[in-house]
Amino acid sequence: MADRTDRHIVIAGGGTAGWMAAAALARFAPKSTKITLVESEAIGTVGVGEATIPQIHLFNGALGLDEAEFLRETKGSFKLGIEFDGWLREGESYMHAFGNIGRGAGLLPFHHYWLRAQKQGIAKPLIRYSLNELAARTMRMQRGRRTPQSPEMPYAYHFDAGLYAAYLRRFAEAQGVERQEGLIASVEQDGESGDITALKLEDGTVLAGDFFIDCTGFRGLLIEQTLGAGFEDWTSFLPCDRAMAVPCEGGGDFTPYTRSIARKAGWQWRIPLQHRIGNGLVYSSAHLGDDEASDKLLANLDGAPQGDPRPIRFTTGKRRKHWSHNCLALGLAAGFMEPLESTSIHLVQSAISRFLSVLPEGETKPAIRDWFNAQADFEWTRIRDFLVLHYSANEREGEAFWDDMRNLTLPATLEDKLANWKAAGFIHREHEELFTETGWFQVLVGQGVEAEAYNPLADNMSDQDLTALLDGTEIALVEEVKQMPRHLDTLQDIVRSAAQGAH
Ligand SMILES: Cc1cc2nc3c(=O)[nH]c(=O)nc-3n(C[C@H](O)[C@H](O)[C@H](O)COP(=O)(O)OP(=O)(O)OC[C@H]3O[C@@H](n4cnc5c(N)ncnc54)[C@H](O)[C@@H]3O)c2cc1C
Repeated sequence: MADRTDRHIVIAGGGTAGWMAAAALARFAPKSTKITLVESEAIGTVGVGEATIPQIHLFNGALGLDEAEFLRETKGSFKLGIEFDGWLREGESYMHAFGNIGRGAGLLPFHHYWLRAQKQGIAKPLIRYSLNELAARTMRMQRGRRTPQSPEMPYAYHFDAGLYAAYLRRFAEAQGVERQEGLIASVEQDGESGDITALKLEDGTVLAGDFFIDCTGFRGLLIEQTLGAGFEDWTSFLPCDRAMAVPCEGGGDFTPYTRSIARKAGWQWRIPLQHRIGNGLVYSSAHLGDDEASDKLLANLDGAPQGDPRPIRFTTGKRRKHWSHNCLALGLAAGFMEPLESTSIHLVQSAISRFLSVLPEGETKPAIRDWFNAQADFEWTRIRDFLVLHYSANEREGEAFWDDMRNLTLPATLEDKLANWKAAGFIHREHEELFTETGWFQVLVGQGVEAEAYNPLADNMSDQDLTALLDGTEIALVEEVKQMPRHLDTLQDIVRSAAQGAH
């Protein structure tokens, strides 16, 4: 076994990605591993990114973070799903809610019974069978509730990503991570292997290391500018290339869900936190100018803006190799997909956990690196497909952007998924694909993609049993939600308990 005592992992960049990596390594890497994070206050961080998915519990839980303290420190709120408003047509809305929809029976998941019921004219909208959506739409939220439908009501968080990074920084530094302030001026490589050997800072400091994690944001200082890992551009599938972001004062409903509102040339997010509402417009610069985007955003806020809208440019896609030589890219340095399904922070966490599962001893073995990159490739492309579905299946006819989106050439992998659904109501979750059958089901139905058939096994159920399945689920869920406290009360209770040190 290699001697680990002198191993040094250097993390370049201290945004959300950098401090997530630092915290996880501090917690899990052998204690003999030295970890240094270098960041530059002069450059700063992207500073947006406020909505997550339930998998965040795995990350916070692995670190041993206390939920109440985490919510207090990050000014967070609860999230039960995402509302898509106007994505099919103006004035219509649906939700991708976390958790189950209805109950499966026999060999089949619920959606086949729902499709049969739809053909018989007795199916109700999916909300009637979703605990999370019923709770979300009535502004209710209860943690750890056990239901007849699922053992728990899954939830995620909205939080201030800057505060989250600061919180993780305190955690990581307390566990021995060293932070170095400074601007990386150059990256040194081994003349033979091309591996990175050191980061040279502007003030002359040299940070030599064995392994480097590139968290320098869109610029990808190590992975791209130094190692030339290459970029797979997905603009043809997801043409939005700009975001305009501005927080505003609280107002309107304190929703336990993210709102994604379709607009003329993109969509607007609305994310309520304890101290503000996060807002942003994601749009295609080919269809909307920056000034107009800024005006449109400001015209659609719940409260007074806190500052001027901040423009962010991006190109959707991913590095061809997330891990190249002795360097792993995380966060925006690894690539970017718009926050339509709140996946970026998740992609950081899943890459960290995959990396830890093969933490290299000494020299990186090419086979391990190839495996890692293949996994990342799969994970990213399947998420991309899910995002494309939201856009491509719209009925917003007569609006240039949305007309273009309907006529996109789809990725072959998405074409396959759509063909299976349309032909047989079949949804296939491949391998460790992030989004579940239930997630796809909700978006397929929400975007008006019709299935011509369902699995004929669903016909084995009598009409009476089918009605009992649907109505029984609905009644139980509606009753359940009535018992739940309001989102605001649940949050205030937990934050208060953290302040009182009850946790
Ligand atoms: C518009 C938008 C909306 C988003 N919304 C969501 C969301 O709702 N949910 C979600 O999960 N994710 C979201 N994200 C993604 C999320 O914000 C990022 O993935 C996450 O914050 C990680 O950013 P990062 O740490 O990779 O990069 P950054 O925040 O850009 O940090 C880069 C770091 O590198 C340092 N650095 C760069 N160059 C140098 C240098 N030469 N020397 C020293 N230091 C350097 C900087 O100082 C900084 O510390 C969103 C992103 C965008 C752009």
